[in-house]
Amino acid sequence: MTTFDRSSFSLNGKVALITGGARGLGQFYSEALSLYGADIFVVSASQNGWDDTRQKVEQNGQQIGFLQQDITDPDAADHIIAAVLEQFGHLDILVNNAGIQIRNDVLDFKDEDWQKVIDVNLNGLYYLSHAAAKVMVKQQHGKIINIGSMQSYRAGKRIFPYAASKHAVLGLTRAYADALAPDHIQVNGIAPGYIKTDMTTALQNDPVRGPEIQGHIPSGDWGTPDQLMGPMVFLASAASDYVTGVMLPVDGGYLLR
Ligand code: NDP
Repeated sequence: MTTFDRSSFSLNGKVALITGGARGLGQFYSEALSLYGADIFVVSASQNGWDDTRQKVEQNGQQIGFLQQDITDPDAADHIIAAVLEQFGHLDILVNNAGIQIRNDVLDFKDEDWQKVIDVNLNGLYYLSHAAAKVMVKQQHGKIINIGSMQSYRAGKRIFPYAASKHAVLGLTRAYADALAPDHIQVNGIAPGYIKTDMTTALQNDPVRGPEIQGHIPSGDWGTPDQLMGPMVFLASAASDYVTGVMLPVDGGYLLR
C-alpha cells in the first residue's frame, strides 16, 4: 500500500512565508503555492506588487497577509514570524526569495555594495531561517526553500558578491538540512538559470552576452518564471519529504556545460 497519491502535492492547510513574494519571481511562487492550497504571507521592502499579488492569491481561493519590512534588520525576523503566527497560527513553509544583485569589476567594487548584497542575500536569509526553524522544530515539521542561483555553482566574476552570497546560501542549505532532518524539516533550494525577468532585462538585450548565453543553454532558450512554479510546489509539498539538502538547478541544462 503506497502513501503516494494526488494529495502528496497538496498544500491545503499550509502557510507559506515568502520574502519578496509580491514581485518578480517571488510573485510566481506566491501564485504557485496558493494554487495548490497554501495561504501566503509576503514580506517585502516596499509595497510594490501587493495589490496584484493579493488578487492572484485570492483568485486561487487562499488568504494573504503582507508586511513591509527590511529583512536585513537582525531584529526583524522574530517580528516577521510573530506577524505570520498572529495571522495564521502556524508556519509550514519559508521561501527565502528576496535577493539583490550589484554588478561591477572586482577592483572597482565598493565595500558598501559588497555589504548590501551580503546583507540581503545571506544575512537576511539567515535571520529568517533561524527564527522560522525554532517554530518548525516545535511543530516537528516544516519546509525551508532557499533561492540560490547558478551563481551558487559558478564564479560570476562581475557579480562576485552575489556569487559569494549564493555559494553561501548553498552551504547554509546543506548545513541546515543536516541539522534539522531529525525534526522532520526539509531544507532545499532552487537555483534558477537565466530567467526572463527585470533583473535580467539588460543581459537579455545585450547584443553580445544575450546571444552568447542563449547559445550556451542546452534546451535552447532562456527560462520563463512559470517554469519555476512546478519545482517550487514539489519542494514545498509532502511529495519531497525524503529530499533534503539539495539545491535544484532549474536552468534548461545550463550548468551541464
Ligand atoms: P526582483 O528584483 O524582481 O525582486 C526582489 C524581491 O526581493 C523584491 O520583492 C524586493 O522587495 C525583495 N527585497 C529586496 N531587498 C529586500 C530587503 N532588504 N528586505 C525585504 N525584501 C527585499 O528579483 P527576482 O525576482 O529577479 O529574483 C528573486 C530571487 O531569485 C533572488 O534571490 C535572485 O537572486 C534569484 N534569482 C533570479 C534570477 C533571475 O533570472 N531573475 C536567476 C537566479 C536567481 P521590493 O519589491 O519591495 O523591492
